Amino acid sequence: MGRTSLPSPKHVVIVGAGIIGLSTAWFLLKRGVRVTILDREPVGESASCGNAGLLSIGHYPLTRPGVSWRGLKWMFNSTSPLFIKPRLSGELVSWLWNFHRHCNRRHLDRCMAVLCDMGFKTLAIYEDMIREESIDCDYARDGWLDVVMNPANMDAAEAEAASLRPYGYSYRRLTGDELRQRDPIFRDDVAGAIHYLDSAHAHPAAFLKGLADACVRRGAELRTAATVSGFETGGAHGLRGVRLADGSAVEGDAVVLAAGVWSTEIAASLGLRIPMVGARGYHVQLSGLERLPSTGMVLHETFVAVTPMSVGGARELRLAGTLEIDRLGRPWRRERLAMLAKGAERYLHGVTTAKTLGEWAGYRPCTSDGMPILGFAPRHRNLLVAGGHAMMGMTLGPVTGKAACELLFDEKPCFDLSMLGADRF
Ligand SMILES: Cc1cc2nc3c(=O)[nH]c(=O)nc-3n(C[C@H](O)[C@H](O)[C@H](O)COP(=O)(O)OP(=O)(O)OC[C@H]3O[C@@H](n4cnc5c(N)ncnc54)[C@H](O)[C@@H]3O)c2cc1C
Repeated sequence: MGRTSLPSPKHVVIVGAGIIGLSTAWFLLKRGVRVTILDREPVGESASCGNAGLLSIGHYPLTRPGVSWRGLKWMFNSTSPLFIKPRLSGELVSWLWNFHRHCNRRHLDRCMAVLCDMGFKTLAIYEDMIREESIDCDYARDGWLDVVMNPANMDAAEAEAASLRPYGYSYRRLTGDELRQRDPIFRDDVAGAIHYLDSAHAHPAAFLKGLADACVRRGAELRTAATVSGFETGGAHGLRGVRLADGSAVEGDAVVLAAGVWSTEIAASLGLRIPMVGARGYHVQLSGLERLPSTGMVLHETFVAVTPMSVGGARELRLAGTLEIDRLGRPWRRERLAMLAKGAERYLHGVTTAKTLGEWAGYRPCTSDGMPILGFAPRHRNLLVAGGHAMMGMTLGPVTGKAACELLFDEKPCFDLSMLGADRF
């Protein structure tokens, strides 16, 4: 992992102003490094803003035993929770085959050892960032609820939570009455919930905008409408900087590629293979509900994530979810967006009469082994690739940014990176 021949960078160019790019920038700025952040869009559009805002540490990766078979079954049904649009593509077939190979117990145990360590560290970093930068983002360390409608599913839901105990996570089981006492928004026929106690939730866009502002205050140059199309090669370590779509160049001592699922095509311009698929999800933002729940949750039978988001006096609820693997940029599937409200109204009062403030779709960057990427490119030693966090990026972004900064300074990273190398594909 170390790069003995590269001196600590004085100027780092970061591609992507999502949670990974901005967290890396924040740590570098605190070390006095000059940072240029490039994004083709304004901060506020990315997956890092549109996600469910559940900072759910102790989340299993996508590669779990049985998931690939379930995905195969769901493949032709565009209203299934995980929809893979069948198409003839060598890249997709290779990704799916690798994904299938990694859906086993041994791999899961190895992943969890790393992800849990990252998870426990990331919330402390969130709290530092929020405190040091006074970010108003409705952060609350109050866990999340796995809310179960069908009484027959309660034991399975509890068994899932119990399986996380060996990794250090705790939970408690709530009856339907206990749940309604806490939060009257739940309907009478909800059976109960498992309360995962160690996690948190936040308004992701408010957090990200706060972090972007903090980076600028600390001296970063944040350029939006700056689309990176490739790299400027050369110099002692492989790269001089990046090339923009308008033909101009931005030079630096090191480049951090944190462009979410689009890192795949940007890396390809260097001949570097970073195979990821974009798993698209949607959100609907609601207001005008008489009651809001106090905690974020996932609805067990419909897989819809529901998060209260109250910032600056607004009282809003976000419904988010569905996983759809298709070519990037395809038109929205309205039937999948509709699954969110339909999946939530069975559990919660007020969803059907609430006002829709906005709708959104974005991509989770997914690797075929379920693990994020954080490491230097094998042939360009001053290119650091960071991303591929799939459904865990908002949660694990801050700790990834810390380790990215440590790597750039050739220090021992704060968690084990041996499974995360950019050269593993
Ligand atoms: C519906 C949904 C719900 C989710 N819920 C959660 C959750 O509750 N908890 C959780 O932890 N995670 C959640 N996630 C996952 C999380 O949002 C992602 O893992 C995370 O945001 C990825 O961050 P990133 O910085 O890698 O990428 P992104 O947020 O995608 O940022 C990449 C940035 O790169 C920019 N970019 C791309 N190409 C270029 C280019 N050529 N030039 C310049 N800039 C470029 C993009 O504009 C973008 O701003 C959810 C995702 C979705 C879709």
